[in-house]
Amino acid sequence: MVNQQPEVLAVEPALLGEGPLWLPESKQLVWVDIEGKCIHMLSPGTGAQRVIMVGERISAIVPAEDGRLVCALQSGFYFLDLQKEGLEWIADPESDQPGNRFNDGKCDPAGRFWAGTMPLEGNEPVGSLYRLDQDGSVRRMLSEVRCSNGLAWNPDAAAMYFIDTYTRRIDRFDYDARTGSIGNRRAVVHIPPEQGLPDGMTIDAEGMLWVAFWGGSCVARLNPGSGEWLQRVELPVSQVTSCCFGGDGLEELYITSARTGLSEEQLQKEPLAGSVFRCIPGVRGLPANVYKLQA
Ligand code: CA
Repeated sequence: MVNQQPEVLAVEPALLGEGPLWLPESKQLVWVDIEGKCIHMLSPGTGAQRVIMVGERISAIVPAEDGRLVCALQSGFYFLDLQKEGLEWIADPESDQPGNRFNDGKCDPAGRFWAGTMPLEGNEPVGSLYRLDQDGSVRRMLSEVRCSNGLAWNPDAAAMYFIDTYTRRIDRFDYDARTGSIGNRRAVVHIPPEQGLPDGMTIDAEGMLWVAFWGGSCVARLNPGSGEWLQRVELPVSQVTSCCFGGDGLEELYITSARTGLSEEQLQKEPLAGSVFRCIPGVRGLPANVYKLQA
């Protein structure tokens, strides 16, 4: 049954909710609160919740093939052991840039972790997009990024989609799964100012993008081939940050939001700001790509 009317989940609102991830084996939704410096976990089936305090800004989490998570923290890439709640440092490509922090990240179809950075203040193009490979080495894949967001790969693993939020564009790259290289960057969707800013993104089984709009109170389904706006899920909060598919058949869409930066007056108008929402959009998602460890 298609139900595009989003429901709010009974979880503590985040200051800056982000990076939702569905773990199919444990049937859990995981997301981060970047400014709350923690990870939230929810089992929608039972309502069981868990919060893991990280102690610094955390902006992205991906599953690793051994059951751990790989995370992007302000001080770089880490493994997280969920049982021990222990962090193990992997690498920090921006140890010389204390004015930046990591932002969105995802794994590619071959199991490399991509995550980008942004300045803590302002929107100068001082961020980069990095690729963490299986051997723990890190490469800078893009530079002069203002606010790195919204990564997705298409179902046949031939294209990577990327959002640098302040460009108001969704860009497509040719992607080579074997080498992890990208090229032939071009804009496939231009976002008009009244839509807000494009933020986090996921992709469905039909290769259509689902993009969260910061300041736009919605998630929209976009066709990256034609640039057409296909579907829109309206939300009762303005700062919509990201989305992912979850549930048994990946038929549910989970949506994160933020309350940071809103005035008292705005918070009275949107008391659910920072909440996580869920709807049944009528199309299935793709399972999250997993970080592959070196054999
Ligand atoms: Ca984001």
